[in-house]
Amino acid sequence: MDIRNTARETSAKSNDPLESLAAALFRPMGVDGIYARTALYEEVIERLSAFISRHREPATEVLRFPPVMSRQQLEKSGYLKSFPNLLGCVCALHGTEAEIRGAAERHEAGGDWTSALAAADLVLSPAACYPVYPLAASRGPVPRGGLRFDVASDCFRREPSRHLDRLQSFRMREYVYIGPPREVTRFRERWTGQAQRLADELGLPYRVAPANDPFFGRTGQVMAISQLQQSLKFELLVPVHSAEQPTACMSFNYHQDHFGTTWGLRDESGAVAHTGCVAFGMDRLAVALFWKHGLDVQKWPAAVRNALAMR
Ligand code: ATP
Ligand code: ZN
Ligand code: MG
Repeated sequence: MDIRNTARETSAKSNDPLESLAAALFRPMGVDGIYARTALYEEVIERLSAFISRHREPATEVLRFPPVMSRQQLEKSGYLKSFPNLLGCVCALHGTEAEIRGAAERHEAGGDWTSALAAADLVLSPAACYPVYPLAASRGPVPRGGLRFDVASDCFRREPSRHLDRLQSFRMREYVYIGPPREVTRFRERWTGQAQRLADELGLPYRVAPANDPFFGRTGQVMAISQLQQSLKFELLVPVHSAEQPTACMSFNYHQDHFGTTWGLRDESGAVAHTGCVAFGMDRLAVALFWKHGLDVQKWPAAVRNALAMR
């Protein structure tokens, strides 16, 4: 929705059930899918984060990543093969003082300064878990029993939308497991069950369904079908718009040996590690909570308030 128009549009005119939430949760920043967050909204995000932390498995290392990551690492991860259309790259003015001043002055003169930009060694992180695989690989062999991480970052995806559940900049939290294939499968099964219990505690209606990533282009369709056939991705879907087109608030992903092979993640015997992750869309979960329980958190069901430690 366009929150710039909130005052003019009545929610009765709209078919978007999220529209009426915008004024209380967000402030416009002049670009679709980029919003300032109100205290009301942010408090729920913080409580949701703590709620997810309380369910962290033992021996899990916590890392919080900045919103940018190494461009080279993301390129090596294969992101450009899958989602080149979604990637945001950091660009900056490089060169001599005269060149940089020249570009800035072009803007003052009404011209285009951006033609002088050159790509920096950074991209905007499109998901929270990408940086963790090279980081784990740099530590040597994956120990018996595998590695567990709790990661989070602000993520960027170039998918501007007026719907509050599709942002360009959003928060992602993930639990990641790196280890033998059988253990990755168990991790993902465990979390698919656990996530449903979490959604129950939060009082959210949902269903879990097989899913595929929206891989780019025509070759992407083949990748999507193969991902579905191999059951590599499931989503926890919440019907914030409609039951027919529910919104993914969490995803459960099995990458097989993709990151293990890419980064040389191996156990002591030299076997390539497999990886999996469970991702929580923090902003989507928060929006879903307000959609389901209303804008007055004092009136949220006692069980939900309890789960979120709202006393
Ligand atoms: P979708 O099919 O809705 O585009 P996705 O498959 O691209 O979702 P993942 O890559 O699995 O999503 O990302 C993990 C989680 O991050 C999603 O389950 C969702 O909750 C959240 N997420 C993804 N894209 C967005 C977005 N544009 N705005 C807000 N949250 C998002
Ligand atoms: Zn992940
Ligand atoms: Mg997507």
